[in-house]
Amino acid sequence: MTTHLVWFRRDLRLHDNLALAAACRSEGARVLALFIATPAQWAAHEMAPRQAALIAARLNALQAGLAEKGIPLLFYEVPDFAASVETLGRVCREQAVSRLFYNYEYELNERRRDAAVERTLGEVVCEGFDDGTILPPGAVLTGSGKMYKVFTPFKNAWLRRLQEEMPDCVAAPAVRRGGALTSALTPVVLRYPQQDFDEALFPTQEAGAIARLRQFCQRGAQEYAQRRDLPAEEGTSRLSASLAIGTLSPRQCLHRLLAEQPAALEGGAGSVWLNELIWREFYRHLIVWYPALCRHQPFLSWTDGVGWRDNPQHLRAWQEGNTGYPIVDAAMRQMNATGWMHNRLRMITASFLVKDLLIDWRQGERYFMSQLIDGDFAANNGGWQWAASTGTDAAPYFRIFNPTTQGEKFDRDGQFIRRWLPELREVPGKAIHQPWRWASRAGVTLDYPPPIVDHPQARAATLAAWEAARKGR
Ligand code: FAD
Repeated sequence: MTTHLVWFRRDLRLHDNLALAAACRSEGARVLALFIATPAQWAAHEMAPRQAALIAARLNALQAGLAEKGIPLLFYEVPDFAASVETLGRVCREQAVSRLFYNYEYELNERRRDAAVERTLGEVVCEGFDDGTILPPGAVLTGSGKMYKVFTPFKNAWLRRLQEEMPDCVAAPAVRRGGALTSALTPVVLRYPQQDFDEALFPTQEAGAIARLRQFCQRGAQEYAQRRDLPAEEGTSRLSASLAIGTLSPRQCLHRLLAEQPAALEGGAGSVWLNELIWREFYRHLIVWYPALCRHQPFLSWTDGVGWRDNPQHLRAWQEGNTGYPIVDAAMRQMNATGWMHNRLRMITASFLVKDLLIDWRQGERYFMSQLIDGDFAANNGGWQWAASTGTDAAPYFRIFNPTTQGEKFDRDGQFIRRWLPELREVPGKAIHQPWRWASRAGVTLDYPPPIVDHPQARAATLAAWEAARKGR
């Protein structure tokens, strides 16, 4: 009997899993599944303890789901990628594996690891799949065969390509011939720091993620264009963590959206949400085309000449949500407490770190990864480079968000700020956006810091620093 091995990575699901489906296609084969944890590597990349907890919970659910299909999950823990290549080789020999199936990961180290696996496995046939995107990297290129550098033309080409070739979802595998596994399962334990998360918001079961997706596509997607920028509301899907670890696939998102909102492809209801799925694709395609992004190099290399400030106190104030700018602080506290931050707030807080504090965007990128339950290299790097104006975005470096007016615009009555900054609850109405002004007028002492920088001055200093870097290029 031939043995097929499915190597799970960030694709922790049974439904619409291309590698798993391919491994199970031949009824006669014995199918094994494998997960290799690399905690030292995760620590080096500052994986958030909340994401580790989500992965641990998901792995246990996946193990049970696979067992019901008659597929055992083998679990190993090794320090790094080099050791995972060795482990894989050993498992293949011990289990007489003839074919290895896996879904590609697109980061540079992960691609190098996979290349090493393919080189060292000898007789074992390796089959990789583009499962983590709707259209595979390299499938959406300019007329001259290059990757788009700007989002909107990429999006238009992506939509055209999708009309030509709509990828289907594949079904979860059927129960294997020998039936469900009956022996008791040994719980999977990840030896990595973990932190509690809200399971109602970040489901660990596939059924929960699918239900959340369905519910959002039925209702939320219609109002998304109006509500997505308002952090006090539940206006976005909150599916990012499910997508980041692969509880859901992007194809499932697309097909559910089109089932509920058929006009989404033509710019009708749901199209703005589809846009976000395309942003996700854009950043994944970019890191494959420009692997230097995986080494945290800026897309615009001259921006490395910006004279970043080394200011640990300011960095700490930003991380802890003590900058004196309420919308920035409320956002940082939301992320620190829950592992998730609203997209508008990711843009505001990132802009504040880079453009008000003049701190290198890579420090922010790193800190976000250490906190986010949905931490995803491509989206995080893309988001940071967008906010820092070092990336592909067409908007130039002099786009600098004013943290006060951003708060006034997107959290007008301060509902979100009050939720996360209890020390400002007594500040009335719109005064919440500049509490220091209200406090000095009212003669009140607030248990909240004054702004750590003056925005107009910070803005001028940033413009000067960028101008100097631009001239020096
Ligand atoms: P929705 O608005 O419901 O969007 C649906 C899905 O589309 C998301 O779940 C996500 O997978 C994808 N998506 C949405 N916006 C973007 C975007 N701008 N770029 C790429 N994909 C997007 N997203 C992550 O998944 N992981 C990260 O580590 C991450 N870091 C970010 C850092 C910065 C500085 C910025 C500005 C954005 C970052 N994003 C990241 C993108 C975005 O903020 C989140 O995907 C979004 O807030 C998740 O909430 P949601 O699931 O409710 O999104």
